[in-house]
Amino acid sequence: AKQQGKNNYQYYAASMNAAALERLNLENQLRRALSRGELQLYYQPLVDAATLNTVSAEALMRWRHPELGMISPAQFIPIAEESGLIVAMGAWAVKEACRQLRHWQHLGLRPVPVAVNLSSLQFRHQKIDELVATTLQETGLDPSLLQVELTESAIMQAEEPSVQMLVNLKELGVGIAIDDFGTGYSSLSYLRRFPIDTLKIDRSFIKDILQDADDATITRAIISMAHSLELTVTAEGVETEGQLEFLRDNGCDKIQGYLVSAPVPAAEFVRFMQSPRGE
Ligand code: C2E
Ligand code: CA
Ligand code: CA
Ligand code: CA
Repeated sequence: AKQQGKNNYQYYAASMNAAALERLNLENQLRRALSRGELQLYYQPLVDAATLNTVSAEALMRWRHPELGMISPAQFIPIAEESGLIVAMGAWAVKEACRQLRHWQHLGLRPVPVAVNLSSLQFRHQKIDELVATTLQETGLDPSLLQVELTESAIMQAEEPSVQMLVNLKELGVGIAIDDFGTGYSSLSYLRRFPIDTLKIDRSFIKDILQDADDATITRAIISMAHSLELTVTAEGVETEGQLEFLRDNGCDKIQGYLVSAPVPAAEFVRFMQSPRGE
């Protein structure tokens, strides 16, 4: 049986395509990236749609590979999820964001709340409420400075213990946002079941908002529904003045996108805390 296992392995290895090999290679390297300090958080401002003041930030993970340079999350997050590495990486992100916020405070800055992305895998395999509680305690950070972002699918897959985790997070004072809203499930009943603060309208609706009447209608409907439920609405991926104007006219609360700024390293994000428009 052992011999056969080996043959199977050889057969498998020989038939692996280059992409799979590269993937395996990246997975091994990602495993070491955490301990080697190759992961970094970038910060993207979310601004008030009316005043353009920075009101919060989203922390987005970056991998600075020693040879390959910057690797985008589109490449390494799926690998991190399939390998389970996302659980440790996500815990790191929560701690790093809190550590950064405390650092900004020690520099005498008045930091805005920072949202950390949680993967559905983390949501299922990690006691996120305990992780957050411990981290807040260790750093002494005000809980209102931390937020989490979860996708609809992560929320929808949630079982009772996960619901309780969100309730616990909410009780700690941590803000909860639904990411990529509109792309997931058709059932909206979960909006009542979970202690959510914010809906983030996915970029796919915002992109053609000025050309596509359906996208415009959907966006208006999401904004109106969110407000009826007393939720805040953020539009993601805002790239043009025209989109901003549409969103502002339709009462969207916050906008996030290249129009204001791409995600930037922590040192650069400081300018969004010092002057209202980042000027
Ligand atoms: P996301 O959470 O939806 O994050 C928003 C993505 O849109 C980011 O891509 C951001 O750079 C990009 N973006 C922001 N404004 C614009 C714009 O105006 N135009 C366009 N075209 N894009 C814009 P990024 O940083 O490459 O991250 C991609 C995805 O990777 C994220 O999507 C999120 O799902 C995942 N991700 C990133 N960091 C983390 C993390 O720490 N943990 C987890 N679990 N996932 C993460
Ligand atoms: Ca997000
Ligand atoms: Ca998003
Ligand atoms: Ca998205």
